[in-house]
Amino acid sequence: MSGGDKLDFEIRPNLAPVSAADRAALLVNPGFGRVFTDHMVTVRYADGKGWYDARVEARAPIPMDPASAVLHYAQEIFEGLKAYRTADGGVTMFRPDANAARFATSAQRMAMPVLPPEVFVDSLHKLIEIDREWIPTGEDGSLYLRPFMFASEVFLGVRPANEYLYMVIASPVGAYFTGGVKPVTVWVSPDYTRAAPGGTGAAKCGGNYAASLAAQAEAIEAGCDQVVFLDAVERRFVDELGGMNVFFVYDDGTVVTPPLTGTILPGITRDAVLALAGAAGHQVEERPVSFADWQADAASGRLREVFACGTAAVVTPIGGVRFPDGEFLIGGGEPGRVTMALRQQLVDIQRGKAADPHGWVQRV
Ligand code: PMP
Repeated sequence: MSGGDKLDFEIRPNLAPVSAADRAALLVNPGFGRVFTDHMVTVRYADGKGWYDARVEARAPIPMDPASAVLHYAQEIFEGLKAYRTADGGVTMFRPDANAARFATSAQRMAMPVLPPEVFVDSLHKLIEIDREWIPTGEDGSLYLRPFMFASEVFLGVRPANEYLYMVIASPVGAYFTGGVKPVTVWVSPDYTRAAPGGTGAAKCGGNYAASLAAQAEAIEAGCDQVVFLDAVERRFVDELGGMNVFFVYDDGTVVTPPLTGTILPGITRDAVLALAGAAGHQVEERPVSFADWQADAASGRLREVFACGTAAVVTPIGGVRFPDGEFLIGGGEPGRVTMALRQQLVDIQRGKAADPHGWVQRV
């Protein structure tokens, strides 16, 4: 990109936005990822030219040539984060700089150009500013922001493309799991793995999710909410869930999560939970946890709580675990004390209700 790490966004307001009455009706019960705001961000990239044509414009379908590289070789990455309405009528974003950094890492892994983090964060501010009225006001509501980038070059050769489109769309959302904060049941997949050493597990690329869908479908068929993936080499250690990281809480107060060895997504919620648990006086450990130990420690009572965490689910208790040979409960299937305390602390910081000692919250 020429001219440093700043881009001026051209603002082209939507001339036919959704009416205030229709918007209010859509915001009553938006669900997850079905309702979208009036605008979107687009920024183009071409080799030799850098990033150009930064715009905020009316949300609309994007014309696509059938030979666009992304449709064939899946050079695509994305991010997910939320904007929240605060009690004083303000708007906050949680750690957008961390998403920008992860987006850059994902881009490098997928042989894509790196969008300057400043442009990434600025693009979110611009979209929130113009679509502010779309942020739900309720306790569980938020505006889910979905930045993404894909290979737009019209070419069928297998090599990194030389043209890309970066975009941001936004979707008002309610709670991710319907029914409020109640423990979820997870399915430990016997057949499928998510990511192998040297693969793309730590990148937030669409292909990882495509690869997880058959396993997630198996989980739903088994009556579970989410799939748990074991490591691809030994099928022994717990990696993460389809769209969340996982934590274990033991009877001596120790809080454990699998380490970032390249096969799991480095969750921003995971990082925040590690910091919050440490500050609350827990011993925190990033180390492998085997499924055999998970079962044995749940049976002995040493393992008190297990929870999943991520942008969409925040912190959600895991109450039951199923696998082909059986099932077991964690903490009698009830939400644990440590889980719920961490959840509350995080939610209060995200929504500007509590002090933010780590400087995680950005006001819009
Ligand atoms: N793991 C996977 C596979 C995910 O898709 C997500 C959601 N982005 C997470 C973990 C949690 O990441 P974060 O806390 O940054 O949302």
